[in-house]
Amino acid sequence: MSKYDPEKKTIIEATHWLAEQGYLGKRSSGGNISLRMANQDAIAITPSGKPYLEMAVEDVCVVDLEGNLLVGKLQPSIESGLHLGVYQHRPDVSAVIHTHQTYASVLSILNRPIPSLFDEIIVEIGQVVEIIPYAFSGSADLVQNVVAKLGNQCHGYLIQNHGALSLGSDMERALKNAELLENVARIYYHALATGMDISELPKGAIEHFADMRQLRFIP
Ligand code: 13P
Ligand code: ZN
Repeated sequence: MSKYDPEKKTIIEATHWLAEQGYLGKRSSGGNISLRMANQDAIAITPSGKPYLEMAVEDVCVVDLEGNLLVGKLQPSIESGLHLGVYQHRPDVSAVIHTHQTYASVLSILNRPIPSLFDEIIVEIGQVVEIIPYAFSGSADLVQNVVAKLGNQCHGYLIQNHGALSLGSDMERALKNAELLENVARIYYHALATGMDISELPKGAIEHFADMRQLRFIP
C-alpha cells in the first residue's frame, strides 16, 4: 500500500465505470482520467494506451506539475499536459475526465456548441457547452486551446473532431458531469436530426439557474 493508493483506486473505479458505459472504448484507447492529489504538487493519471478494463491500481501513474513521472511503470497518458493545464488554471477542479463518448463526439464533428437546453445542465456544467478548437491529440497546441476556454468556468466542453472534457471538484462530480454531458448531447443530436426548431430555455430561467450555479460552484 503506497501513499497514493486511495487516489489511484478512485481513478481505477472511475475508469472501469466509464469503460463499461462505452465512453472510452474497451480495446481501443479513447480517453484519460486524472485526480489532483490533496496538498501535494502532483496528480494521478491513467497510463497511455492500456485497455481500460485491464487497468489496475498499480498501473496508474503519478506525475508532478511539470509532467515528470514520480510513480508508475507505464507511460502516463499523452494528454497529461492537458490535464495539468486544467489544474493549473482552475483551482475549483480536482478531477478531469477526457473521453471519446459517442454523442458528445457527434456534436464535436458537427462543431455544435450545446446551448442552454435544461435547468440542471446550466447548474452543473454551465450555460453553454463550448467547442475547444481542434489540435493534434497530445499536442501543446491542444493544451493551449483548452486553457483558452477555461475562463468561462464551465465543467464540460466538446473538443472539436475529438471528444469530450468533463471537470469536477471531485471524481464523483466529474463522472456525473460526463454522464450529464452525454445525455444532453444525445438529446440535442436527436432534436437537431428532426430538422425542427429547438426551444432553448427562456432568458429568465437561464439567469435564475446561472445564479444558482454561481452560488454553488464558482469560487
Ligand atoms: P492515452 O491512451 O495516451 O491516454 O490517449 C488517449 C486519448 O484519448 C488521446 O486523446
Ligand atoms: Zn482523446
